[in-house]
Amino acid sequence: MINHEELFDVTIIGGGPAGCYSAFYSGMREMKTKIIDFQPNLGGKVHVYPEKMIWDVGAVTPVTGEQLIKQMVQQALTFDPEVVLNEKIIRIEKTADTFILTAESGKQHFSKTVILAVGGGILKPIKLDIEGADRFEVTNLHYVVQSLSKFKNKDVVICGGGNSAIDWAVSIAPVVKSLHIVHRRDKFDCHEAQLSLLNEYPHEKHVNTTIKKFVSTTDNTKIRSVILENKLTGKESAIEIDDVIISYGFERELSFIKESPLQIELVDEFYVKGSSKAQSSIEGLFAAGDILSFDGKVHLILGAFADAANAVNQAKMYLDPNSPAKARVSSHNSRFEEKNKELLQHLFVNS
Ligand SMILES: Cc1cc2nc3c(=O)[nH]c(=O)nc-3n(C[C@H](O)[C@H](O)[C@H](O)COP(=O)(O)OP(=O)(O)OC[C@H]3O[C@@H](n4cnc5c(N)ncnc54)[C@H](O)[C@@H]3O)c2cc1C
Repeated sequence: MINHEELFDVTIIGGGPAGCYSAFYSGMREMKTKIIDFQPNLGGKVHVYPEKMIWDVGAVTPVTGEQLIKQMVQQALTFDPEVVLNEKIIRIEKTADTFILTAESGKQHFSKTVILAVGGGILKPIKLDIEGADRFEVTNLHYVVQSLSKFKNKDVVICGGGNSAIDWAVSIAPVVKSLHIVHRRDKFDCHEAQLSLLNEYPHEKHVNTTIKKFVSTTDNTKIRSVILENKLTGKESAIEIDDVIISYGFERELSFIKESPLQIELVDEFYVKGSSKAQSSIEGLFAAGDILSFDGKVHLILGAFADAANAVNQAKMYLDPNSPAKARVSSHNSRFEEKNKELLQHLFVNS
C-alpha cells in the first residue's frame, strides 16, 4: 500500500526550463508537486552556458544563463514543490492508477501523473582518451567553459571542431594570451559566421591533428604542455599551455525511457512522440521541453515553457476531467492573493 503522504499528483523528472516552469504552473493548478533532477542544482542545460547572453526568452531582456537560472528556480519554488536533487530515475512503470519511478539510489517515487522534462537526458562530456588525463580535471583540463575570467591572459588549447568548440573559442579569444585550436579533421564543422568571428582574433589552427599526450608539471598536478600529432605527416610538436579545453560533445543518457516497461512511443529513437498538448502515448504521462517532439514544436526555452503549461493543464484534466482547461491568468488568480499583498505593498512603499 502506498502511503498517502508519498503519493504526488504530479512528478516532474528534470529540472531544466521545462521542469522548472512545470513546477510553477503545477502549483498554480493546486497540484501536489515533486520535481526530481540528477544534478545537484535546478536549471538544466543552461548550466552549460552560465556566462552567455540569452536574448530570445519572451519579455525577458538579455540575461546571462546564470541570471536566467536564478529567475527560473525562484519561479519554480513559488508554491513550495518537493525538490529532490542528485536523484537519477532509471525506471518508470505504472500500476492501474499510479506511476512508480525508481531511482538509481533504490528509492521509489509514487505519482498519479508524470511530466518527462529530461531534455537531452543526462549529459556527460565525451572525454579525452589519454590514460591518466582524468587527474588533471581538478586543475587545468576542462570539459565545459564555466567562466571566461578563468582563461584571462592564459595560453589555451581548445580541442574540437564543432559548433560548441568554436563557440567557446570565440568567447575566450578576446581575453586569452594565446589560443590554439586542435581539430582531427581538415575542416571545421561549425557555422560559417562563428568561424568568421573567430578569425577576427589571433589564434593558431592545427587541423588533421590530435593531442597525443600531456607533459605534466614536476609535482604531476597540472598539464604543462601538450604534444600534438599531425595525422597526415606523423610529425609531433609541443605547445606550452596553461589550460586545455576539450569539446568533443556530450553523450546523452536516456536509456530509461527507451527501456521503460511502459513502451513509450518515440521518434528517431530519442524523442517522446507527443502532441502539441504535451501528451505522450501513455495516459497520465506527459512531456515538455527538448525531449518532446510534435509537429510545430518550438525548439527554444520559450517553447519549453509553453509545453510545460500544456503538460500541467493536461495532467490536471487527467486527474479531474471537470477542471477548467487552464489556470486563471496570474493577474486575476487568487493563488497569488497573499503574495501580491506583500509585493504590492513593497512596490508602493518604494515608489
Ligand atoms: C550552448 C547552448 C546555448 C543555448 N542557447 C539558447 C538560447 O540562447 N535560447 C534558447 O531558447 N535556448 C538555448 N539553448 C537550448 C536550451 O538550453 C534548451 O532548449 C533547454 O535547456 C531545454 O530545456 P529542458 O528543460 O527541456 O531540458 P534541459 O535543460 O536539458 O534539462 C533537463 C534536465 O533533466 C535532468 N535529467 C535528465 N535525465 C534524468 C534522469 N534520468 N533522472 C533525473 N534527472 C534527469 C538533467 O539533469 C537536466 O537537468 C542553448 C543550448 C546550449 C547547449
